[in-house]
Amino acid sequence: MLNNENIKIYELVEKAEENLQSIYNSINKVSFINTQKVLKAFNKNRISTRHFSPTNGYGYDDVGRDTLEKLFSDIMHTQATMLRPQIVSGTHALSLCLFGLLRSGDHLLSASGSPYDTLHTVIGCDTKVDGSLCEMGVEYSETDLTKNGEIDIDAVKTSLQPNTKVVMVQRSRGYSTRRSILPSEIEDLSNMLKIVSPNTVLMVDNCYGEFVCVDEPSDFGADVIVGSMIKNPGGGLAPTGGYISGKKELIDIIATRLTCPGIGLEIGSYEASYRPYYQGIFMAPHVVAQALKLACLSREVFNMLGIKSYPEHDENRSDIVQAIVMKNPERVISFCKGIQYASPIDSFAAPTPWDMPGYAHKVIMAAGTFVSGASIEISADGPIREPYIVYLQGCLTYEHGKIAFINAINTMIEDKCL
Ligand SMILES: *Cc1c(COP(=O)(O)O)cnc(C)c1O
Repeated sequence: MLNNENIKIYELVEKAEENLQSIYNSINKVSFINTQKVLKAFNKNRISTRHFSPTNGYGYDDVGRDTLEKLFSDIMHTQATMLRPQIVSGTHALSLCLFGLLRSGDHLLSASGSPYDTLHTVIGCDTKVDGSLCEMGVEYSETDLTKNGEIDIDAVKTSLQPNTKVVMVQRSRGYSTRRSILPSEIEDLSNMLKIVSPNTVLMVDNCYGEFVCVDEPSDFGADVIVGSMIKNPGGGLAPTGGYISGKKELIDIIATRLTCPGIGLEIGSYEASYRPYYQGIFMAPHVVAQALKLACLSREVFNMLGIKSYPEHDENRSDIVQAIVMKNPERVISFCKGIQYASPIDSFAAPTPWDMPGYAHKVIMAAGTFVSGASIEISADGPIREPYIVYLQGCLTYEHGKIAFINAINTMIEDKCL
């Protein structure tokens, strides 16, 4: 707790940065390796300006679209990818994947406890939701993570049913303080499934995880990985969209849900340049590194201020999120205001809690972003519920992240809640 309003926050931040030098170095190394990986895929696919060209109508033989998907497959080491501007959000990508893979009478098992908030209505087993998986006759159950936050392989094994079609794992912490799951942790689950239930598809919600480590869940046996293009892999430049990447036979089935059976990925036009997608993917490893450094900085500074946040230590991060336990709504609102006021876009707007579609509680969201709602740009948000956690993620440049973060702390001091 601080009561001295004149505390020199800037000095505190500089001190935190000194403490973080070796962590920043390891983040730089990951970013270097991932940049090499991305560049190699660009070279292999002989990307040139012709791939940026817009198309319209049906978009038959859209070389920009098809090559973008091949490029992404090469980066993720998968057989096939569906990466489309027509996928409206991460939730939509996850929903497409689930509706594509599951049929009436199939069982879906979440192996990382309760899934991300917006998937509750997609699954629709808590309450009756029109058009949900449960309404279509899909069975659903969950196994919790162990008390160390790891996938409980034994519990998953005993929860498998003859009709378990999909086992789903969420890599990122979502709106919770649990640890994020490393790509390598997928391996044991994958190996177990291959033996016990070889027809079950292992699906990973990869949102916020891309390029945080040098590997992805697809390197450790995930059959499909799913994410949003306005988070990590879009590098802050992709204007909209989502992706599903994995085994070709699965991507082909899922594609029938984006378009239609018989059409799949063959059509779909985009009458804007694909350049921001290509350029965004190229930038993504570096941008993710900026975001990771800011997450580490916020952890270190809040630790100095006696405020707990997760991850508590910086080893083995697998997502870009820092969950800060503010303990009261005033702090959450004040912190979000401070981030918003130091944003390049809409800096004059005060974020307020609202009933966001798909979420059960009111959610506050500071996102003064170039791409509306893009949380690879600096953003702070959280559902207004106990213990009042604010989730900080993203930033296109570390310099800006640092400025916005200092402003958020100062706003909390001005609002007398720190
Ligand atoms: C953001 C997110 C989603 C949903 O993505 P939207 O684009 O907001 O719909 C799903 N799962 C996780 C873990 C996320 O972080």
